Amino acid sequence: MGGRGLIPWTEVHSWSCVACGKCCLGYRVPLKLDEYAKVARVYGIGVLEFGLGKVYLKNSQGNRCVFQRPSLDRWVCSLQAMKPLACKLFPFRIQSKPAYKRGDTSAYRFRGNDVYVYMDPECDGIRIGKPSRRFRYEVLPEILQIGFGERVKQKYTTSKYISWTPS
Ligand code: SF4
Ligand code: SF4
Repeated sequence: MGGRGLIPWTEVHSWSCVACGKCCLGYRVPLKLDEYAKVARVYGIGVLEFGLGKVYLKNSQGNRCVFQRPSLDRWVCSLQAMKPLACKLFPFRIQSKPAYKRGDTSAYRFRGNDVYVYMDPECDGIRIGKPSRRFRYEVLPEILQIGFGERVKQKYTTSKYISWTPS
């Protein structure tokens, strides 16, 4: 998928996180106020980075998120139980306006409104094709519910690989 822009959901057959770890490398993860408070309470402020009125998860050496851990040949998240919204949504992008001026096929009806849903082509878990029933009717609704704050727990949109929970 080299060089591609955002992929409209209608071009995606399915998605499943393969724990390649790319999305936790070289990104700055922004935290909402409640997320920041929870993380600071459990782990202290040493895992946070402050900048321009925003709080982020710190990156460690190698530019990886401090909560990313190797597991055999995969990478997993050790912050699973309080994973920030930004991480839960990746590689989905939900927008109120289309990203492309012409031929944009990303509209998705949710709670009576059109939103525009894309996927980040950097993710290794995307399979291109006609959307499967599971992707359309289980994965997408869950990601929209999470994005709009109606749901917290991930069932269809998290990695099937082992992850740590904080002690
Ligand atoms: S969401 Fe995508 S990029 Fe991130 S670890 Fe899973 S497969 Fe890799
Ligand atoms: S909190 Fe977890 S999912 Fe988010 S960037 Fe860090 S390791 Fe990755």
